[in-house]
Amino acid sequence: MSKKTVLVAGGGGFIGGYLVSRLLKDGFQVRSVDIKPLDQWYQVFGDAENVVADLKLIESCNAACDGVDDVYNLAADMGGMGFIENNKALCMLSVLINTHLLQAALDARVDRFFYASSACVYNADKQKSEDVIPLKEADAYPAMPEDGYGWEKLFSERMCRHFREDYGLYTRVARFHNVYGPLGTWDGGREKAPAATCRKIIHAKETGASEVEIWGDGKQTRSFMYIDDCIKGILAIMDSQILEPINLGSDEITTIEGLYDMVEEIAGVKFKHNHDLTAPKGVNGRNSDNTLIKEYLGWAPSIRLRDGMEKTYQWIHSEYLKKHAGQPV
Ligand code: NAD
Repeated sequence: MSKKTVLVAGGGGFIGGYLVSRLLKDGFQVRSVDIKPLDQWYQVFGDAENVVADLKLIESCNAACDGVDDVYNLAADMGGMGFIENNKALCMLSVLINTHLLQAALDARVDRFFYASSACVYNADKQKSEDVIPLKEADAYPAMPEDGYGWEKLFSERMCRHFREDYGLYTRVARFHNVYGPLGTWDGGREKAPAATCRKIIHAKETGASEVEIWGDGKQTRSFMYIDDCIKGILAIMDSQILEPINLGSDEITTIEGLYDMVEEIAGVKFKHNHDLTAPKGVNGRNSDNTLIKEYLGWAPSIRLRDGMEKTYQWIHSEYLKKHAGQPV
């Protein structure tokens, strides 16, 4: 039997790179497509077919889906809170990627289609308190998602549903909650809280500073999913009978202040925390309700935050030192 061919859209990105790696190990033929020049991809694999193309364009999507069995759509313009709050139009333009990929996947008669959605689809009213009740899938409606990025994700989720219902395309959708780990973005403006926390603490340690700055009052609550759990979940959800969008996230909750304390402990330092109350801080509380994923898969992300942050910190530390020694990172 010939090997299945799989498209990873956004394969040059953080999660996409890990997914390509895993699919190659599992024996798939992988086509990895990303808009970034190849030297900016987080991971490049010689045994994958690596294509630089803009998947906002229908012709790029047609070429990407040609001869493919499964599609994983991880391509999007995204970043941490600082990025998505200041680039709403850009984030919404990712709707062209999913729309054209769905059309192209249907035309190419692919077997299966996976879409990476986000916890940013959840109704803002349910996330007003730090003492948040974990978000269950039904809490996305009535719709009041994160402006820009969240609206695009909710619309694209919906489009996957209707391509399944109306055209019979096999679609699966996971709502990722804050994914982190080594090989992720850690500076430049698109980084998320776990990587930004590591970088700020490393910088303070290396420069002999005594203070670090936290965005917001630090009381915001979040959960963070280690990359290995994310990849395991993507593959399991693609293989499952779960038709509706489902949470893929950790339910180990922490405050942002608690995240700084944890990373300081890993780094063996203690700094004074200054709070920038004017900086973007997102919702007050967000956590993943994992009842449904446990019911369907008998599994949920379980890698402890302390364990994942230890690995992430060590990797960012080595990248930081390389960068400041003028070496490529
Ligand atoms: P990432 O930014 O590292 O990867 C996304 C990739 O998509 C990038 O490499 C980017 O160049 C590529 N891309 C953007 N526009 C493109 C285009 N027009 N054509 C082709 N490629 C294009 O982000 P990530 O963290 O790996 O996220 C992957 C997916 O998961 C995204 O859809 C994201 O919205 C979703 N998600 C991620 C998180 C998280 O915490 N990382 C949380 C929720 C949802």
